[in-house]
Amino acid sequence: RFSVLKPSTPDAIFALVGRYTLDKNPNKINLAIGAYKDEHQKPWVLPCVKQAKKIILNDPNDNHEYNPMIGIKSFTSAGAKLILGDNSSIIKNNSISSVQSIGGTGALKLGFELLKRAKPSAVYISNPTWANHVSMIPEANLPLKYYRYWDTKNLKIDFKGLLDDLWNAPNNSTFLLHACGHNPTGIDPTKEQWKEIAEVMKKKNHFPFFDCAYQGFASGNIINDSWAIRYFAEQGFEMLVSQSFSKNMGLYGERVGCLHVIYPKIQNTEKIVKLVNDHLASITRSFYSNAPSFGAKIAEKILTQPDLREQWYKDMTTMSGRISNIRKELSKRLKERGTPGQWDHFYKQIGMFSYSGLTEKQVVELNNKYSIYFTKNGRISISGLNMDNLDYFVESVDKVVRT
Ligand code: PMP
Repeated sequence: RFSVLKPSTPDAIFALVGRYTLDKNPNKINLAIGAYKDEHQKPWVLPCVKQAKKIILNDPNDNHEYNPMIGIKSFTSAGAKLILGDNSSIIKNNSISSVQSIGGTGALKLGFELLKRAKPSAVYISNPTWANHVSMIPEANLPLKYYRYWDTKNLKIDFKGLLDDLWNAPNNSTFLLHACGHNPTGIDPTKEQWKEIAEVMKKKNHFPFFDCAYQGFASGNIINDSWAIRYFAEQGFEMLVSQSFSKNMGLYGERVGCLHVIYPKIQNTEKIVKLVNDHLASITRSFYSNAPSFGAKIAEKILTQPDLREQWYKDMTTMSGRISNIRKELSKRLKERGTPGQWDHFYKQIGMFSYSGLTEKQVVELNNKYSIYFTKNGRISISGLNMDNLDYFVESVDKVVRT
């Protein structure tokens, strides 16, 4: 039965990690995968998560019952407040539908399915973007198109190209936007640029779908990192937001996320919220019935208990602070060495990833000769570096750039 299947391309990142694991070189470095590691390259369980787990495990009323198909309400409401702010009029007016999802990927999947059921239109994604966007959109039978984002020569946003593509897309197109910590480039639009993007999108009646995978992890501040979403909401955009707690709470394998559907302009929202909630419930029902509980309970505790929330803010500063130190050191050491090229972009970028500007040939050489693993587009996960392996990385880049 299955021999008729055409070969499927394995995920490039997971394939790299497989090769990294088998590599015997003691100096090997894994810069492929986007999961935070501490200074000793160990997975880090956030202190706020440890505390939340203790509370749940000691709760005599905790149980393993099924949840509603759209998820645990106290968790999804807390997620919505995190995105929009406690005082958001959208929250107060109940102009939002929220559904629990299997991580950020699951939220995107639910969003694409909902779009397909409502008003299918082409979905524009940034060039470049996170590789999974490229596979998920056609999988949902939605046409996939690109908008320009990256100026390869000057290692910055091709803002003119981006605006031209917004103008030239047919009215009512969907644009997938990275809320913060753009993956893979690490460069986000400035506030002024977001305002211009919103203005054009309004004129063209485009529909924003924000992918928010790094709130609080990117800059260390949850308000900064949701600025664009909050601005678009204030401007009255109806939109989708996928929200992930994988990075900002380090809950990767627990698969914690939400999809939010926001309707700022609708006055009497009861009807639309019920209609959309029913559809979201029927989508999750047919996919997997309902999302898992444990991670969502942890996130709910952290978001709603003031002491845990305070601890979480500290934990995010720990993560983003380490990343930003490494970025500074990396730029500094490459410059001190006189390595040919521009290296300032490493500290100008934010979030987990850096678009290094290294060519495919250089990436392959770094891999073959020096056992340094990252994707051929030159994206490095900064979290794979620490004070022990940084010099080895810098020396290897120096050699490769000079050959
Ligand atoms: N969107 C982007 C841009 C991402 O980088 C990621 C994680 N790599 C996700 C979504 C998905 O996150 P999750 O692991 O929660 O599915």
